[in-house]
Amino acid sequence: GGLLEIRGVHKSYGLLEALRGVDLTVQPGEVAAIIGPSGSGKSTLLRAINHLEKVDRGFVSLDGELIGYTRHGNTLRELTEREVLRRRTRIGFVFQNFNLFPHLTVLENIVEAPVFAQGRPRAEAEAEARELLARVGLADRADARPRQLSGGQQQRVAIARALALRPAVVLFDEPTSALDPELVGEVLGVIKELAGTGTTLVVVTHEVGFAREIADTVVFMDEGVVVEQGPPDSVLDHP
Ligand code: ADP
Ligand code: ADP
Repeated sequence: GGLLEIRGVHKSYGLLEALRGVDLTVQPGEVAAIIGPSGSGKSTLLRAINHLEKVDRGFVSLDGELIGYTRHGNTLRELTEREVLRRRTRIGFVFQNFNLFPHLTVLENIVEAPVFAQGRPRAEAEAEARELLARVGLADRADARPRQLSGGQQQRVAIARALALRPAVVLFDEPTSALDPELVGEVLGVIKELAGTGTTLVVVTHEVGFAREIADTVVFMDEGVVVEQGPPDSVLDHP
């Protein structure tokens, strides 16, 4: 099987079926780009993967471990909040709107989860955070607050924060759609660099050229299901 396995996932909001039976497998080291019209369920699927959104039916497993549940004979039993949080730290998540803690410095934003959710020693987490900041080109902004940074810089901090968990997979939810056009490139550049290192990524994006460039597999969603998955050239229209 794959690293990430999504099987028969359903999610409704009242009468609206946002996900209607999603099946998807992501292999280790693979970069998967999820594309599709607005409202097709891309964002709901990403949130379902790390259990930010509780699904109605189906399951998600990472490395054979269910994210929000434990198997009990033939039924699934919900995990405690604490256990969900622990498993969720194996999945990095980069939000559209950065979601940095405004009252913490850049460095504190990055070390928060490794220290408090993973119990790693603070000194070690800080050293690794500084390396990650250098990697996203922000070595000199460790002591800044998020509001002192541009959107592109904030998103690069958010990427460093996701990587600080040493996650098995990193999920990106339209990581550039809240940015001014001139800042998109610096964030796509960091993601592209990451894709080249063999990190497993799942990227929801409307940047089709970018998807073509970085993705090993493109997943096309429509009306709550995966309608097509394959190599970029077979799924995306040729220019
Ligand atoms: P996409 O990311 O492809 O634009 P979404 O996953 O955001 O699609 O949304 C899928 C559908 O579910 C849309 O019709 C959206 O309005 C609806 N939806 C998403 N989140 C919620 C929510 N929290 N409550 C109600 N409806 C929602
Ligand atoms: P995206 O399509 O990227 O998810 P949206 O603007 O559709 O962005 O959604 C932003 C937030 O609003 C999400 O958290 C989503 O769950 C929520 N949302 C989207 N549609 C609805 C809806 N119809 N009712 C309530 N919440 C919604």
